[in-house]
Amino acid sequence: MNGTVFNIQRFCVNDGPGIRTTVFLKGCPLKCVWCHNPESHKAEPELMFYKNKCVNCGRCVVMCKSGCHSLCNSSHIFDRHKCIKCFECTKTNCNALEKVGHEISSDDIITEVMKDKIFYDNSGGGITVSGGEPLFQFDFLLDILKKAKAHGLHTIIETCGFTTQIRIKQISEYVDLFLFDYKETDAKLHKEFTGFDNIIILNNLKTLNSMGKSIILRCPIIPGYNDREEHFNGIANIADSMENIVHIEIEPYHSLGSAKYDSLGMNERKITLPDENDKKIWLAKICAGTRKKVLLA
Ligand code: SF4
Ligand code: SF4
Ligand code: SF4
Repeated sequence: MNGTVFNIQRFCVNDGPGIRTTVFLKGCPLKCVWCHNPESHKAEPELMFYKNKCVNCGRCVVMCKSGCHSLCNSSHIFDRHKCIKCFECTKTNCNALEKVGHEISSDDIITEVMKDKIFYDNSGGGITVSGGEPLFQFDFLLDILKKAKAHGLHTIIETCGFTTQIRIKQISEYVDLFLFDYKETDAKLHKEFTGFDNIIILNNLKTLNSMGKSIILRCPIIPGYNDREEHFNGIANIADSMENIVHIEIEPYHSLGSAKYDSLGMNERKITLPDENDKKIWLAKICAGTRKKVLLA
């Protein structure tokens, strides 16, 4: 089966235990205001244009038959609305234009992942499937995980949990550990921050817990959004109420995705970066409310 990925990263050490290969699937139903992977939102491949890397050579102007690229007074103008996503202009191989997302088969993914099997065996690692939201390409994800299991791999998915109960149950058979995002305790604010409330997500989290699946609760903390006492208490309460939540991971907001917004023609929400003191305070507050281990990513 084929699907669309935007990255396959080998030797990852922050996506679950041991050394892992992380496969990033394209497409996500949520639109978190703090997302640092905006290139993952749409399911199909997209064109990224980094204006600051353009040297105005003009090669793309010649190659694009849709007239999207033009040079005016030594400035590059890119009219994204005319783009038919043929990706001819990326054949210039310049640093300013990049096609993000490509079709690949699950067999080819497994071949790539299996290159590092010896490292997984020595470190307790395996495959992590992330996104975007990996469940967005459900059939493809299922196919990858079935094949990974058939090859004896330890499997993780990193998910926002926004899917149907049928799907979460079906996928769980092939997943050893869930990295489950917990973004906001208040349902209304969850909708404001991500586009949907958290009711479906919480039900899926409860289902996984009741099925005995191992879960790491991943909590992005975003200044001015969810860095509130009520949410810190919510994180602690949910972790303590579910015996299969192994530990909590705090993920402080960072701005590493900023340049990507501009390259995709998207507007980025301005968010204040937390300092080290903010992170220590968050950690202390969440630790105070829970019996579970809390780690700072
Ligand atoms: S986007 Fe690339 S090919 Fe086009 S003018 Fe800039 S550097 Fe040249
Ligand atoms: S992807 Fe195709 S249509 Fe879009 S700018 Fe490049 S060459 Fe033009
Ligand atoms: S769920 Fe993850 S990938 Fe999707 S919008 Fe939110 S942060 Fe981005």
